[in-house]
Amino acid sequence: MKIAIIGGGVAAFEAAKNIRTLSDDAEITIYSREAVPPYRRPALSRMAAEELADAQFFIKPAAFYAENRIGLELGRTLRAIDPNTKTLTFDSGSPSTYDRLLLATGSHCFYPPVPGMDLDGVMSLREYADLQKLRARLDAGVKNAAVIGGGLLGLELAQSLLERGCLVTVFEGSPLLLPRNLDEEAAGFVLKKLGEIENLTLRFGCRVEAIAGEAGKATGVTLQDGTNEADLVMVSAGVRSNIEVAAAAGIPCNRGIVTDRFLRTGIADIYAAGDCAEVEGASYGLYDAARSMGTVAAHNLLGEEQPFVPQAYPARLSVFGIKLFSAGKLAGARSETTQDAATGTFQKRFYDEADRLVGCILVGDLREAVKLQSQIAVPTQG
Ligand SMILES: Cc1cc2nc3c(=O)[nH]c(=O)nc-3n(C[C@H](O)[C@H](O)[C@H](O)COP(=O)(O)OP(=O)(O)OC[C@H]3O[C@@H](n4cnc5c(N)ncnc54)[C@H](O)[C@@H]3O)c2cc1C
Repeated sequence: MKIAIIGGGVAAFEAAKNIRTLSDDAEITIYSREAVPPYRRPALSRMAAEELADAQFFIKPAAFYAENRIGLELGRTLRAIDPNTKTLTFDSGSPSTYDRLLLATGSHCFYPPVPGMDLDGVMSLREYADLQKLRARLDAGVKNAAVIGGGLLGLELAQSLLERGCLVTVFEGSPLLLPRNLDEEAAGFVLKKLGEIENLTLRFGCRVEAIAGEAGKATGVTLQDGTNEADLVMVSAGVRSNIEVAAAAGIPCNRGIVTDRFLRTGIADIYAAGDCAEVEGASYGLYDAARSMGTVAAHNLLGEEQPFVPQAYPARLSVFGIKLFSAGKLAGARSETTQDAATGTFQKRFYDEADRLVGCILVGDLREAVKLQSQIAVPTQG
């Protein structure tokens, strides 16, 4: 059986690895538009500040693919799928055919539709090529860096930019810090600590109206109350699934490529996994979800019927010396908080009407994280 996998992320990697474990004779090929083998995408933020060892960055060394007879075609961008002839066309090189196809094309950064987003100096960090561009820009010297979006990724990026010597301002639309990962009380606790970081400014509740520019280059971020200087603007305002090629082939798409819980799309022998997939109406945008979808897809591409079962995926963040973990539902019939400003630790647990743990937030001391996560009664993600 000839299995083609499109994408060079964790979903594609897990699928290929598991197919090989399950089948000795499947012909497996990964086609990725990136120039490097699959890597741990969340490490890109860290890589903006420091070079990680290959073993930390790449999921497996390049030799793994040859040893496991997994074809790895890098620099190949899929342009079209013909489901009738089961043919794939790429931007370069010859077309290829498949018996079963897995789309694991991930997502791209969303750019808010305001003027100036096309100026030189406005960028995002999603792929290895973005990292190379960002590093070149930082090497050339950046004074004021703006980060649009103060979510987990935005804060990680802010830390790396500070470490590279920039003055950093984060612009967040919500009036609260990390509204998806913290409640108001926890946000207040973390914010006090973030407020002490030198050269970092956090602005909440702001609507970016435009990126200001001169001679084609970004010079600032314009809000209702004026323009804040910035010679680098990083956009970290959410992601959108990469669905264009699938949609053009007639595969039903909504926000993502629509699949059932077995990750089957609306067209026979075509599956989708990871950030590009919308599984029974839910998109995840999370590394662990993509990885587990890759595993499930491997089984199903080989003819099994394994459902993808979502978990209560936790959020983790470690920036500016602050460690944070949250999981489950961050509201409930009652909650319990313990905090100690002197040690910088905070713990909040949320319970439902039946007094079952439904969520938790931990700051500073994360030793109980895994235990609490396993006790959480209701998966909430999606
Ligand atoms: C900086 C950063 C930090 C993050 N931090 C976290 C975190 O802390 N926790 C967490 O849970 N998640 C985090 N995420 C999100 C997480 O990385 C994604 O959810 C995960 O990588 C999704 O995996 P995937 O395999 O579905 O897609 P991706 O990793 O996006 O991979 C998709 C691949 O498909 C390729 N591709 C796309 N279109 C084509 C095409 N037409 N032809 C060929 N190849 C194509 C892309 O180039 C890419 O290699 C982070 C993401 C980023 C960018």
